[in-house]
Amino acid sequence: MTMLYSRLVETYQKIEGTTKRLEITKLLVDLLKETPADIIDKVVYLTQGKLYPDYLGIEIGIAEKLAIKALAIVSAVKEPRIADEYKRRGDLGDAAEALLAGKTQVGLRNERLTVEEVYTILDRIAKSSGPGSVESKIRQLTSLISKASPIEAKYATRTALGRLRLGVADMTLLDALAHALARGKESKPLLEQAYNRSSDLGFVARALASGGIDALRSFKVTVGRPIRPMLAERLSDPQEILEKMNGRAAAEYKYDGLRIQAHLSNRKVTLFSRRLENITDQFPDLHILLNQGIVGGELILEGEAVPVDPSTGELLPFQLVSQRRGRKYELEKTIQEIPVALFAFDLLYNNGVDYTQLEFPRRREALAKLIRRNERLDLSRQIIVTKPEQLDDFMQQAVADGCEGLMIKSVRPDSTYKAGARGWGWIKYKREYKSEMQDTVDLVVVGAFAGRGRRGGTYGALLLAAYDEKDDVFRTACKCGSGFKDEDLAKLLEILEKYKINHRHARVDSKIVADTWFVPGLVLEVIGAEITLSPIHTCGLNSIRPGAGLAIRFPRFTGKYRTEKSPEDATTTKEIIEMYRSQLKKLSETKSVEAA
Ligand code: AMP
Repeated sequence: MTMLYSRLVETYQKIEGTTKRLEITKLLVDLLKETPADIIDKVVYLTQGKLYPDYLGIEIGIAEKLAIKALAIVSAVKEPRIADEYKRRGDLGDAAEALLAGKTQVGLRNERLTVEEVYTILDRIAKSSGPGSVESKIRQLTSLISKASPIEAKYATRTALGRLRLGVADMTLLDALAHALARGKESKPLLEQAYNRSSDLGFVARALASGGIDALRSFKVTVGRPIRPMLAERLSDPQEILEKMNGRAAAEYKYDGLRIQAHLSNRKVTLFSRRLENITDQFPDLHILLNQGIVGGELILEGEAVPVDPSTGELLPFQLVSQRRGRKYELEKTIQEIPVALFAFDLLYNNGVDYTQLEFPRRREALAKLIRRNERLDLSRQIIVTKPEQLDDFMQQAVADGCEGLMIKSVRPDSTYKAGARGWGWIKYKREYKSEMQDTVDLVVVGAFAGRGRRGGTYGALLLAAYDEKDDVFRTACKCGSGFKDEDLAKLLEILEKYKINHRHARVDSKIVADTWFVPGLVLEVIGAEITLSPIHTCGLNSIRPGAGLAIRFPRFTGKYRTEKSPEDATTTKEIIEMYRSQLKKLSETKSVEAA
């Protein structure tokens, strides 16, 4: 059985024509019902503009220059004209469609592009490297476009460039899979669970299509496939935290570093970031630490990698470890100058046993037995607390030791590892919120406004949004123009280029119209003076007062690009509502003290 690429393209066109999630889901359900089981993974990946799960780090991303060359060969139009057409339309896929419009239509030929064929060619493009790869990529893309109809060429070109951007979220695809291949809503938790334990939608789709719902029931955690991280809720009152935990909890230092999920298999070490990128190559020092310090064969553990001062052993600011990214050639030097320490905080798998299903105290106990502690490899510092004062004392210690606060973890019998979920099993307790905003938030860039005067040619301000987990959308919380140095303005222009789109993204909820819109991708850390009610922002709309949203007043970029966070990891609208409430509470407490 096979499937024509045109069937996919037909769905893509319709998806682009709507912003309604329900409609998108329905289109996907229809598509998935028709998809043969043995290519369903490919259809799922292609629909998200990729070929493999993200954690494998295999990107198609052919350079624009090469795509233009391929288009020139197929259309017999000169490269400068194609470049002009591209500039005019702002999208090379659109340009490809227009250029090929005069070409003989595929219907007249016998040969029509199948999904497998498109996938195979894109895969060759993605994997060709080294000498001769430029020519090979052009050759592959040329062969693909020459077999495509104009509209197929549009989507194939976009996919080859790594810019399909249909905006189909993981959750939407899971919904569609549940309705197309299982018992709809009722099966969604099983699908989600399988996805949370494999981080691979294509793999889940294929298991479901070939083995049915039973295949999902017996879905196992595997070494090498990252588990989606468990996330924490946030509270600012120790008493409230303990109540949520039924009076007894484990409190741990909240280290300010990089979350690492380490997979060990007979001395082979694979490291994943919080966004589940494979960052194995950036931390050769951690391989040595883990191989020397961990007893045992196959396991998955989580910890926070924190930069340390090699001469004093003191913890250093988080930014120093984020610089490890991408600096391959200078890596040796960086490792010497700024080594990292790993504080392990959870055990997810060990020699055939899926620890995610066990309660936290048992996971921690097993973890402690596996680690030969030394200066650079340790367990996260932990105490068991039953009183709010203990939390406050431990907090002071944590801050004095260079940490940003505490993580409070449930020790109840139901304290299993909730992969991919934010819940009350973990609560982060950062610094106290006073009436003014003391804590930073991480917001997603969804739009921008053109700069004027000194900022001409760059962005004058960015439209920033918080993540609404319930509806899986991004809601605006402020327009931020301060805190950006000249280098930041130049850097932002460059980084944001790849997220640019010519309309508001379907997952962005905004009453404000930006000059430029982006696919939600880049996360920035921002601090403001306070959180206020706002008639124009959509974050927390109607949650405090009908018709009003919440906004961050006087927002300022702190200088931290939170590239380790995905947009879904940004501060949530719920957290901002919570921060607003606790701000009010503190304010009324101060007022009543003053009145007395
Ligand atoms: P946040 O990034 O503010 O949502 O806080 C959650 C993050 O804190 C996790 O993703 C970890 O990277 C980090 N973290 C630091 N120390 C711990 C710890 N002891 N337990 C769990 N997470 C920790």
